[in-house]
Parts: sequence; structure tokens; C-alpha cells
Amino acid sequence: MSEFNADRHAYPEIRLLIGGRWTRGTGTATTEIENPATGEVLGMVPHASPADLDTAAAAAAEGFRAWSRTPVSARGRVLEKARALILDRAEEIAVNMTREQGKPFAQARSEVQSAADRLRRDVAEAQRAYGQVIPYEADFHLFTVREPIGPVAAFSPWNFPAGSPMRKLAAALASGCSIVLKASEETPATAMALVECLHAAGLPDGVVNLVFGEPAAISAHLIAHPAIRMATFTGSVPVGKLIARQAAEGVKPCLLELGGHAPVIVAADFDPALAARTIAKSKFTNAGQVCTAPSRIMVHEAIFDPFVAAFVETAQALRLGNGLDADSQVGPLANARRLAAVEEMIADAVARGARVLCGGERIDGPGHFFAPTVLVEVPEDARMMVEEPFGPVAPIAPFADLDEAIARANALPYGLAAYGFTRDSRTADRLWRGLEAGMLSINHTGGSVHEAPTGGVKESGYGREGGSMALDSYLVTKRVSHRLV
Ligand code: NAD
Repeated sequence: MSEFNADRHAYPEIRLLIGGRWTRGTGTATTEIENPATGEVLGMVPHASPADLDTAAAAAAEGFRAWSRTPVSARGRVLEKARALILDRAEEIAVNMTREQGKPFAQARSEVQSAADRLRRDVAEAQRAYGQVIPYEADFHLFTVREPIGPVAAFSPWNFPAGSPMRKLAAALASGCSIVLKASEETPATAMALVECLHAAGLPDGVVNLVFGEPAAISAHLIAHPAIRMATFTGSVPVGKLIARQAAEGVKPCLLELGGHAPVIVAADFDPALAARTIAKSKFTNAGQVCTAPSRIMVHEAIFDPFVAAFVETAQALRLGNGLDADSQVGPLANARRLAAVEEMIADAVARGARVLCGGERIDGPGHFFAPTVLVEVPEDARMMVEEPFGPVAPIAPFADLDEAIARANALPYGLAAYGFTRDSRTADRLWRGLEAGMLSINHTGGSVHEAPTGGVKESGYGREGGSMALDSYLVTKRVSHRLV
């Protein structure tokens, strides 16, 4: 645990950035920002009016003209400076992330580091955004170049207040696009700090814009705006479908990173205690509010009992508390909606015959704390087995036959992450070939990494963030055919 002093960092007054100017905007509504660990009101988020959104979109169009013509080397220098500014402010950004989202400070601090590093990584990809020289007829130069698509409208959620907006900011800006970001109204200080650093690093006015407000009204307005050429959203499947429909109206491409319900299959040959500890640690990270969190755990019947015992032991040993307390390992749920949703899912499962082995209840006192919960005998049609739980809830079920487990894993319309545990290479092969998911991990539960693409299949979305594909959604290929006369 790194040393830090939360008292040194005040929670900031939230502002919008429109056309290079920090402003309260001209909207009349505001949203309260709550500390989910204490219930304290941290501040208010000002809402952008439709006129503010028009100004932001027009500024993004203007900014795009300058930024898209800025050579990648110069773009890289600005973004590298922004990275340094973010790292200078890392403690402050992480403290305020913990205040507004709840995750333990150490996790918030490493998220800030990772977000800053993504800028460097995506600039490196921009330096490799190669076109093609295509062999053709005599007297022709035939080639392709990859150009930035244009101003981007981006929508990021509250569970990774730095990581999620930065995936969009870094890829768009490294590509030469401008961006209007609507970050979560529940975690605005983190997004504002990232945008402050980008702005202070020297981006031309209008290249990065930050707005808040009523999410549905903002996305409908921005995506329909003629200046906006592409939309990117991370969040739930129903909202992703709405964004896709809105973008389709203007034939604008989208990048969608939506929910999942990650299956885990633990084969009979794997050490049950090791698998249980590994999966439980990942399951309860960020209080389970991670789109790739293991959430349907299937264990071979031969090792089911020792696995469950070790999983419950790990869950019960976790220390819940305010993320600003140095020894907290799990913070509160990020908002009252998640608390209610998790309670309803558990009640539904229990009503259908599930047994709660540990947890199952909210913790008395202030804040949205919920005990890490393990259930067995949860029917496959219980709500928590078909809806993304997005909370500290682990249903564990036995299986007898690997093909049957893979079929159960693939039965839902989601396909974001999936996990397998086995020491047998043929079993591993059946798992990674058989499981329908955009991200497959064998013998570990590590999440997304900058080096590789992240994204889903089926209703979990399309497009990829990260790795060598990080910029693909933000670049368009232009074919040039030049006849020599
Ligand atoms: P939600 O579906 O209302 O919102 C999810 C996110 O989308 C929020 O950040 C919200 O501000 C934003 N949003 C909502 N409607 C929007 C719209 N019309 N246009 C643009 N943005 C919009 O639900 P929630 O209560 O915030 O979260 C519930 C569920 O969302 C979770 O159970 C989980 O399934 C999913 N979720 C997924 C991720 C992820 O990383 N993929 C992150 C957060 C939430």
C-alpha cells in the first residue's frame, strides 16, 4: 500500500470544458455527487444545455481541422506532456476517485498510472498507422493512407473513472481526432482531472471537450450532430443498443464495449484451492463492478467441495471499508442502484432455491457496503445467472462434462470475457476454441492489458480498444490512385 495523505486533496468544483474554456455551462439542472462509502455529498455536476452541446460539437469540428493536420510526432509530444502532468497529480486524482467511486486507494492509484501510460502506448500505435503501397499498372501510384475519422462523441461509465475515459481519449487524440467526452456524472472529478492535464499540455482549443448532463439527452443530441463522425460507449447492453441505433441513423460507426457475464470453467485436474483463491480475488475486485469479472463459476464435480470451501474462506477474509482507509481491500458499491440490484438478485435466487454460503446482505451503517457473497444451487434461470450481476456475488455450480459446461457458458447472449483453469493442454485447447468470448484467459483472471485488444462478441459489443487495434475505430482508410500524366 503506497503512502498517501487524503487530507491534502480537496474535492474540486466540477466544470465543463467547451471549446477550450472551463465553464458551468448554461444548463439549469445539476446532479449530486455522492461518496458511496459515507453518503456525504461531495459536490454538484453542472449539466450542459443543448446549446452547450452544439458549441462543443462545433468546437470539436474546428479543433479537428488543426489537430488532424498536426504531425504524429507533435501530437506525441503534447500527449507525453499530458502523461507527465497526470502522473504529477496521481495521488490527488486517485484520492478523489476513491471518494467518488469507492474503490481502495491503491487500486485507484494504479488505475491512474495505467491511464497515463495508455497515452504513450496509443501514440506508439499512431506512429505505426501505416498505409499500403499497392502494385498496379504503369504510370499509376496506387496507395492507401489512414486518416482520423473526425470528431468523436465518447461516453464512459463510473466503474473505471480514469481507465475507461482514457481508452477513448488516448486512442482518439493519438489518431488525430477531436473528442467530446461525456464521462459519468457519478465520477466526474477523475475525468475532469484527466481532461485538465490534456488541455494544460497544449491541445488546441476544441480538440478535447468535456460535458456532463442527462446521459440519454446528451448522447441523442451529440450523436445526431452533423459534426460528430463516430460514437464510442462503454456501459450496459441496453444502452449500447440505443447508442448503436442512434449512430445507425447517421451511418456513423460505433465502438461498443458492453456488459458481459463471464463464465469460468475449472477442470478436474486443477488445484481447487489455488483456483478458488485466484477467482475469488478477481471476483471481488472493485466490489465486483467490472465488466470482465468472473460471474458464472463452474467447477468439475470431483473438486467442487474443496473449491467452494476455499472460495468462501477467501471471501470471508476480505476486509471491507472506506477505500481511503489503508487496510480496506473492498470498498462499497458505487451507488444505491447497484445495492438495490444486488439485493434483488440474491432474493430472487434464494426464492428459487439457492443457498447463500456467506454474505448475502448489505452492511449496516453509512455507505453502500455489501458483504462478499457466495451462493450454490442457483437455478440457471435465476436473474443473477442471466443478467450481469455487477456486484460482489459469486454463484458456483458443479459440472460433470466439459462440453456441457462450455454449452452452458455459451448459452447467454453475452461474450466479453471467459476463463478456464486446467493444466492439460488439450483441455485448454477445447476451452479457448469453444468459449464464445472476446477475451479468453487460461489459468489466471488478469483483466485487460494495454498490449492486447479488449472487446466483446455477440451482445457484448463490437470494435476493440487497446493493443495494435487501439486506433482502428478512429482511423479510416483512404485509397489514393494517382495517374502520372
Ligand atoms: P445504465 O445502463 O443506466 O448506465 C451505464 C452507463 O451508461 C452509465 O455510465 C450511464 O451514465 C451511461 N448511460 C446511461 N444511459 C445512457 C445514454 N442513453 N447515453 C449515454 N450514456 C448513457 O446503468 P448503471 O446503473 O449505471 O449500471 C448498470 C449496468 O451497466 C451494470 O449492471 C452493468 O451491466 C453495466 N455497466 C457496464 C460497464 C462496463 O464496463 N461495460 C460499466 C458500467 C456499467
